[in-house]
Amino acid sequence: MAYPSPYRAGMSSLGYQWICTILAEAGFGVERVFLPDDVPAWRSAKLAPLSMESHTPLGQFPVIAVSVAYELELAGLVELLRLAGVPPLRRDRGPGHPKILIGGPLTFSNPLPCAPFADAMLFGEAEDVVVPAIAGFFDTGSFEHVAGLAGGWVPETGAQAVVVAKADDTLLPARSRLWTPEAELTNMFLLEGERGCHRACTFCVMRRSTNGGMRLVTPDRLMELIPAEAERVGLVGAAISDHPQLVGLLERIVESGRGVGISSLRADRVALKPEIPRLLRLGGYSTLTVASDAASQRLRRQLSKGTTEAHLLACAEAAKEHHYRVLKVYMMLGVPGETDEDLDELVEFTRKLAAIHPVALGIAPFVPKFNTPLDRQPFAGIKVVESRLERLRAGLKGVRAEVRPTSARWAWVEYRLAQGGPLAGEAVMRAVDEGGTFAAWKRALGEAGDEDAGRGAVA
Ligand code: SF4
Repeated sequence: MAYPSPYRAGMSSLGYQWICTILAEAGFGVERVFLPDDVPAWRSAKLAPLSMESHTPLGQFPVIAVSVAYELELAGLVELLRLAGVPPLRRDRGPGHPKILIGGPLTFSNPLPCAPFADAMLFGEAEDVVVPAIAGFFDTGSFEHVAGLAGGWVPETGAQAVVVAKADDTLLPARSRLWTPEAELTNMFLLEGERGCHRACTFCVMRRSTNGGMRLVTPDRLMELIPAEAERVGLVGAAISDHPQLVGLLERIVESGRGVGISSLRADRVALKPEIPRLLRLGGYSTLTVASDAASQRLRRQLSKGTTEAHLLACAEAAKEHHYRVLKVYMMLGVPGETDEDLDELVEFTRKLAAIHPVALGIAPFVPKFNTPLDRQPFAGIKVVESRLERLRAGLKGVRAEVRPTSARWAWVEYRLAQGGPLAGEAVMRAVDEGGTFAAWKRALGEAGDEDAGRGAVA
């Protein structure tokens, strides 16, 4: 099981750990391999990535199963395979090379750029299908049978409609198991409190149309799964703060003397259930993190977000009352229809928040994704995003509000991959091989052209 980002990211990925567990319990000799932290150093020393368990070089495994979380991790996949001496493109590999099976969160939106690298792919929730996929390979020496599995795709056979797989509810919840005292991050036991979401934000891949919405796990079931030695519990789920029994669950975890963290918090839940921020703080959570998602109330309504200024102000009050270090607010810039007036509203509103408690704005440029109503909307443009960031920074001078943006350039790369097809995947390899600079990406993606992503392959 390879992870195309460094160890910390892989071990924070509950899905990756959970699939490792399922394969190990089915009797396979599963070993973990991560992208090294310092790829250039490994490349110049000609070091191969080794498995964590037996220190076997990655290229010696018969099957490399990879979990890809988001578009830019495809670069990590190319790096990992290059370091291992495995040709990244399927067409360049021979019978002596490992077979590559790709799955992971990216397959919920646009898996097509993965196609040139994969012998087979599993779209969506892989719990039910990953064991037959691997077992079938050891029976037949091929991955052709994957096309007959739910969510299975064999790219060599060309485009075909594939619906993402939905795991049987009895297999929930995912939980971390590779949890040994020596490893990093291991005092945090990750546990999936629910799966999916019942809401309908127009930009989000995990909206309710995906796999039938939200599936809840009861607090009793969750509590019985927490190992006695776990010092902290990380509750995971796209809409975990919408769990109707979250307050009771947090109480039980905190009362057991454990710390607690949470993967996402909706501002309206914090506003309407003040026990949530109180209990999380008692459990050692120190940055109250919510999402406003767009610069203005008008845009939030347009995105069907349902979060209001009143909710966000209540979050700032809660952060102050419970002595959180900072209120972190995630949002996107460049959503369709955004204007300078929306930015001016953001400045004014952030000033109000910061008058209550220090604020950090985590800003990502909007990238339209497949399988959402905003698919095919344009990317705002690097210059537009950067100039709006400047306007925001200028408006917030002297205010207790930090602006923490992700790069507009890399968001453009993500956009091209999110909306691209297999040629965009091949461009990833050229960009990496030509040094991985932004100029190399621009060149490689320019050569790929504005291909139609072949959406027939994704239902
Ligand atoms: S952004 Fe959050 S609340 Fe909205 S649909 Fe996605 S997971 Fe649900």
